[in-house]
Amino acid sequence: MTADNAYLEIVNPANSSVLATVPITSAEEVAEHARDAAAVFDSGVWSGLAPRERAAALYALADLMERDASLLARLDSEDAGKPITECLEGDIPGAIESIRYFAECADKLYGAVAPAPGSVLAFTQREPFGVVAAILPWNYPLAMAAWKIGPALAAGNCLILKPADATPRSALHVASLAVEAGIPEGVLRVLPGTGPVTGAALASDPIIGALSFTGSTATGRAVLRAAADSNLKRVSLEMGGKSPQIVFADGLSFGDTLIDGLITAAFMTQGQNCTAGSRVLVHESIHDELVARFAQAASALRVGDPSDPATQVGPIINAGAADRIMAAVHAAVDAGAVVAAGGAEVAVEGGGRYIAPTILTDIAEGDPILTIELFGPVTIVQKFSTREEAIEMANAIEYGLAASVYTKNIDDALATARGVQAGVVSVGNYSEGDLTSPFGGWKQSGFGGVEKSLRAFEQWTREKAIWIELQG
Ligand code: NAD
Repeated sequence: MTADNAYLEIVNPANSSVLATVPITSAEEVAEHARDAAAVFDSGVWSGLAPRERAAALYALADLMERDASLLARLDSEDAGKPITECLEGDIPGAIESIRYFAECADKLYGAVAPAPGSVLAFTQREPFGVVAAILPWNYPLAMAAWKIGPALAAGNCLILKPADATPRSALHVASLAVEAGIPEGVLRVLPGTGPVTGAALASDPIIGALSFTGSTATGRAVLRAAADSNLKRVSLEMGGKSPQIVFADGLSFGDTLIDGLITAAFMTQGQNCTAGSRVLVHESIHDELVARFAQAASALRVGDPSDPATQVGPIINAGAADRIMAAVHAAVDAGAVVAAGGAEVAVEGGGRYIAPTILTDIAEGDPILTIELFGPVTIVQKFSTREEAIEMANAIEYGLAASVYTKNIDDALATARGVQAGVVSVGNYSEGDLTSPFGGWKQSGFGGVEKSLRAFEQWTREKAIWIELQG
């Protein structure tokens, strides 16, 4: 049982008010949930349905999420400090679309027939693991949950999902909607809690067959270690990044598309975004003009209360994160960096910690800000003179999540898209692609599987080869 004091307070980053109190799911409770989930899986109430029937239930879930979209948007906005407009127009519609996309895939997952001798029928099929788990970050609470819930459930698994410590409320609501949609009780379990208690118990649980983790690279390592030390569950890691936005000499010809792309990349969700375009690599010939236009647009962004529909930049998730981000900015400036925009905190009525959209240039060589994931509204700008140099700079860090390339020269565009070590590269815009496009990191940004597209099912299913010798 949960000890009396084992509760988490969910705090609104905009004003420090306590929004809710949720229990921290203990290690014993995690083990019990895993055992119960295995029994639900084995009963066949979900895994034994025709894929089309699972699709129907997931469509019903998506419809209920649509019915409650404004509530879900408010929960994510309050818990994570995300601007409400971003949640209403981006996160929540995206989450609903994800559930529908994966529902639609449920009966479209084919195996293959092997070219075996004529006396044999050999084929492969993908099967669910049984009990699977997902561990989530706080920056896109429901959007990330939907990327996991959709394919895990469509494939017939029972899913145990641990939302981030700070942002459990939208996922808890969706768990209740799942039951309302006709998904049998116990198929989707949302267990709030902390990383060291609830998350660690999931990572080392002996029943869970696969675990999909999204969060920081440091935690990803711990999850992988725990999986190795327990039942060698299949682990998929989606982790941090510092994604380069590479602007060639002709980049300004993209006009507002370029500036809007750089702004979104750098400052959406206050830059607390795994694919944040927190490094702009720009051809030296347009450096000054680009910085001037980028800085002007950044300074025009509206920083404020995330519940105000006009707000574009809300508070940082908590005081510790704001301190860490500002310390890195101050250290870079002390070492010679030039502040082209922002560089300071902004006071907003209510009491949260807000940082003005910040652009730094002329960073000193070796400054940690060149390579660390700051996870805040801070972007650095660096110059390059040749395509080769741009690619080398892009690849000179441990991350490889995403990149964008701005040029209309097909040779530069393709050579750079091919040369950059990243799981997703957008050309002429800032994008992770839609649901049809796989998403996953390279290097220390990702490992073991991708999100979105039919390929997402590889995380949640295992392949079996069946070999039948025909008798006559
Ligand atoms: P985090 O690593 O601190 O936490 C992520 C989750 O792991 C939380 O639910 C946390 O409770 C849990 N956790 C912590 N310690 C654990 C442990 N020892 N064992 C098991 N679980 C544990 O990350 P965060 O601050 O919530 O999220 C920000 C990070 O997530 C950034 O690095 C960001 O780039 C990354 N992110 C990546 C993607 C992607 O798709 N690649 C998407 C969103 C966020």
